[in-house]
Amino acid sequence: MKYEGMIFRPPSEADSLILQVTAGCSYNRCTFCSAYQGKAFRIKSFEEVKEDIDEASSYRSGIQRVFLADGNALTIPQKGLVRILDYLKLKLDRLERVGIYANAKDILQKEVSELEDLRRSGLGIIYLGVESGNREVLKRIKKNATIDQLIRAGRRVKESGILLSVTVLLGIGGVEKSKAHAEDTGKILSEMDPEFVGALSLMVVPGTPIEKEIETGRLILPTPFGLIQELETMIENCQFTQCFFASNHASNYLPLRIRMPEEKEEALRRIREVLRRKDPALLRPEFLRAL
Ligand code: SF4
Repeated sequence: MKYEGMIFRPPSEADSLILQVTAGCSYNRCTFCSAYQGKAFRIKSFEEVKEDIDEASSYRSGIQRVFLADGNALTIPQKGLVRILDYLKLKLDRLERVGIYANAKDILQKEVSELEDLRRSGLGIIYLGVESGNREVLKRIKKNATIDQLIRAGRRVKESGILLSVTVLLGIGGVEKSKAHAEDTGKILSEMDPEFVGALSLMVVPGTPIEKEIETGRLILPTPFGLIQELETMIENCQFTQCFFASNHASNYLPLRIRMPEEKEEALRRIREVLRRKDPALLRPEFLRAL
């Protein structure tokens, strides 16, 4: 497999074959993100991708899941993406699901019928980074999407029958916007009603624009218990039909896995107990936190 640069994938794709169909992120300007810094964006040719699929199918049998990297592979024009998905189906006879990262604009460039075609060709889950439901925070982090676009994108994925997994970032609004960020993020998630939510905590990567904001005091990060307070407020504001909400990413101080709506109240009780005791021993130790 010919991978270019560092490869990122969602935690839930740990056992998947990672197939790099694009290199980098076509946007690459979110202020907190260093994932594809210095990596020029390009869409790989079908021949390059085909070679990797051929190679993977020859040495690894029984592949059931594939994740299409990099940053926003859904930006590949429809015909090219269908061609890759169809070839995967042809070569991997046990294939059950293909996943992909997307941003809101990639999704909105596709009609529901096009997303349905992708689903029929095997695309089973789209991972969408929302980060915050607060207008000012989205602007500040240069997310390149409005609240309305994010909600429409999420709903469009759901309408097509593809699973929707959304990530949000605790701490991204700083102390100043902490409460508004948590409330508004709970609300936007409810509007989107995704099947999966992953709440991560902001970890500041050297060299990113957000690091400068912190160094100059323009952004003050919440404390670990401040982040847990955000988690509480966010969950309080979440109303889902059926969602698996996880804060078990390595960046978080309090790992939780919550089936909503059934386990929402129990999770809130647990969070409130941690906030009441304010005992650092209840948190994931700093040295175990990672991106
Ligand atoms: S769209 Fe995603 S991958 Fe691209 S810069 Fe923003 S957070 Fe990073």
